[in-house]
Amino acid sequence: MCWYCERLCQATTEDTGKAPTLDHFRPLRHFPELAYEWRNWVFSCLRCNGGYKQDNWPLSGYVDPSAADEQDGPEYHFDYDPDTGELIPRAGLDSQARDKALQTIDDLRLNKLDVRRFRLDWTRQFIDTWHSLPIDERSAFVDVATQLGYEFAGASLMAIRQLSA
Ligand SMILES: [Zn+2]
Repeated sequence: MCWYCERLCQATTEDTGKAPTLDHFRPLRHFPELAYEWRNWVFSCLRCNGGYKQDNWPLSGYVDPSAADEQDGPEYHFDYDPDTGELIPRAGLDSQARDKALQTIDDLRLNKLDVRRFRLDWTRQFIDTWHSLPIDERSAFVDVATQLGYEFAGASLMAIRQLSA
């Protein structure tokens, strides 16, 4: 699964953008000393890595999908709009964190139409299933369906966070 767009990576001839790649979160061109630092490696589809992110490293940096510190990671920076399927900066961020969230969303095209549509379909299905379950089974369902390796695990968790609020 791509850690940026949360879609499955597949090496297919029809859609080469979904091929799996290894992204250097802090690009080699700017941070050559991190070439073999595994904490700097992010599993990513070709489209997000080679197509969008490339060697870019803005002043704000990007939201780190595998951040060790929660305050650097996606859960802290993003929220999910269940009406549009868009990722948005979380309310209450300081201006620096908000810039970082917006820059990541823009540069990685995280709200590009096809990604947004798949995210919207997936989370709607996820929420419908959640509602259909007996209350005592919901938490186990969320645990399974938001494990790493499932598409849109992050967006699903954000949707549940809103339902539980
Ligand atoms: Zn991707």
